[in-house]
Amino acid sequence: MTMLAYHEFSRTPERDVYSLPSETFRRHARLVDGLSGARSCITFDDGHRSQFDFAAPILDEMRLAGIFFITTAWVGFLHSVMCWRDLRELQQAGQIVGSHSHTHPMLTACGPVALRNEMTVSKEIIEQRLGVEVDSISMPGGRINERVLMACGEAGYKRVYTSRVAERKRSTGNLPEVIGRYIVRGGTSDRTLAAYLDGDPFVCRRLEMESRMKTVAKALIGDSLYHRLWRKAARSGAYGS
Ligand SMILES: [Zn+2]
Repeated sequence: MTMLAYHEFSRTPERDVYSLPSETFRRHARLVDGLSGARSCITFDDGHRSQFDFAAPILDEMRLAGIFFITTAWVGFLHSVMCWRDLRELQQAGQIVGSHSHTHPMLTACGPVALRNEMTVSKEIIEQRLGVEVDSISMPGGRINERVLMACGEAGYKRVYTSRVAERKRSTGNLPEVIGRYIVRGGTSDRTLAAYLDGDPFVCRRLEMESRMKTVAKALIGDSLYHRLWRKAARSGAYGS
């Protein structure tokens, strides 16, 4: 099973590497639909409004179901993210809403109480608002370790989504299943994406290497500096794939 993760969309190409033109997403959705059918899944992090405006109608049109991971403290407070009415509409259209924590901290840096709150508050709010059980969570900033994984299990999550390509751990005991995803960016070519969806071992290894290098770089220089440098480099084309 291949997993894709998206963030933002726009009508026209933008400079931000995490933002994709909606036409690009339409091509990607077509690839998912055509190449791999039920073996692939499209996920979204952060609950940005553009996911509702641009991506959801395309999923609808192609009868594809995705998972929308939302940060509950942002809903109803940030203009840029979907409100509960949008989320209810998504759910009624057959989409899944999962947790992306309550306030979006790096969970690996949270103390035990904060960590537990991030997990449980977010889960409870979504369940209360939408009336469904929430058993999936995606990691803010992709950060995860054994302690975070255990807290996810204790809070009742069955599946944990990260941003490492091809990462896969079966659930054991109380520990949830860990599922890696490929973070799709503005510079991702259709060819790379098609090869990944098709399970091309060479491309999968390359993407795995890239995501491993990113994890190491983040650990070495810290997350915020890393993101600033990376966005800058990606804009200039150095990381286009
Ligand atoms: Zn996020």
